Amino acid sequence: MSLSLDHIWPPFTALEPTPEAIKIVKGKGTKIFDDEGNSYIDAVSSWWVNPLGHCHDGITQAIKNQLDQLEHVIMAGFVHPPALELADSLMNITQQKFEKVFFSDNGSTSVEVALKMAVQYFENSGKPKTTFIAFEKAYHGDTFGAMSVGGEDVFFSAFNAFRFQIKRIPIPTDENIDEVKAQLEEYLKEDDVAAFIYEPLLQGSAGMRMYSAEHLDSLLDIVTQYGAVSIADEVMTGFGRTGKMFATDYLERNSPDIICLSKCLTGGYLPLGITMANEKIVQPFLSKSPEHTLYHGHSYTGNPLSCSAAVASLAEFAKPEIQGNWARINEKHQEFAKQLKQDDRIENVRVLGTVIAWEINQGESGYLNPIKQLFTPHFLKSGVLLRPLGNTIYILPPYCITNDELAQTYSTCLEAMNLL
Ligand code: PMP
Repeated sequence: MSLSLDHIWPPFTALEPTPEAIKIVKGKGTKIFDDEGNSYIDAVSSWWVNPLGHCHDGITQAIKNQLDQLEHVIMAGFVHPPALELADSLMNITQQKFEKVFFSDNGSTSVEVALKMAVQYFENSGKPKTTFIAFEKAYHGDTFGAMSVGGEDVFFSAFNAFRFQIKRIPIPTDENIDEVKAQLEEYLKEDDVAAFIYEPLLQGSAGMRMYSAEHLDSLLDIVTQYGAVSIADEVMTGFGRTGKMFATDYLERNSPDIICLSKCLTGGYLPLGITMANEKIVQPFLSKSPEHTLYHGHSYTGNPLSCSAAVASLAEFAKPEIQGNWARINEKHQEFAKQLKQDDRIENVRVLGTVIAWEINQGESGYLNPIKQLFTPHFLKSGVLLRPLGNTIYILPPYCITNDELAQTYSTCLEAMNLL
């Protein structure tokens, strides 16, 4: 029987023209292999989830071991060793800044949970608040709450009638910081703001837009002053992507009340979402009143296989060589940035930790810019998986990428310029 794509509705993909897909049959380290024997450097870490390489021996073994013990069990009224170990590891890796770990399924659900925690925090405290503040062009996931706090985008326009109203501020720059602070304060003074949600330092889906920790800190000073909840969506930035374990570790004065984690958490093996809340948030839930309970849970909450993958991957993050890799990749990106800056068709070259991004200044900037369609076949033909966001090209590799593989990725990007 020949298998076909006909009945698969792929994510983020138009159904006309008929979608095509490369059949991947194997992965090892930075590379994935198709059914015709071609290999590709996974320079986007498979949608930003894979920090340690494909088919990592330690994580594979941990899942195999868990498979022989327990595949899944209901998590209300029951618990299991991988969930306990993971909660413990997460408390340690976030330096005991949080009090509770809530399990869900993916990045979007980790955000949904955070939004609900923030609303119910105020409800339980007897002073209900219903407004959220978020950055323009934010992306927090595809479920309805996450879409609501996301920016005005082609992704969400069909659902605008169903998105709850939020207040938006631009990401801060040296030029606009005073205005943004004033705007934020204006919103907070209205006294109905439950929470400010943000992708710290790096807006991924918006096109790898970067902003400074100092500015974020000064915005959070105001949020804290007015008592609103701060929600750091570290789904993409967590676990070293920005060169520190968490992007919020760059902040000098503030740490979030709630943090959302997913993607790299399981080493890119299995879906898992985590929402961690600090003592302040947890306090009004410590109540016997039934209406003070957070009524949220998914069938696969705390799946033991996902948790065992996460425990094994967090153990890898504790090894010193990981940080060496973050520094090495950053250094290579910085060198490559100098090269890119010499081409006047390229602008806004920027590096943060293990991420480098730039724009091609041709056509209208944004996700629908056709440069993506022009460059992608070339990248694949040269054995590199890159997935531009419109005219934004970015490299976001697994931390095990070798210098040779980085060099190959960079050359492919430079060669693509000949297509313009
Ligand atoms: N938040 C951020 C910052 C993200 O980048 C993403 C995914 N790209 C999500 C949330 C949603 O995660 P998921 O795709 O796992 O639902």
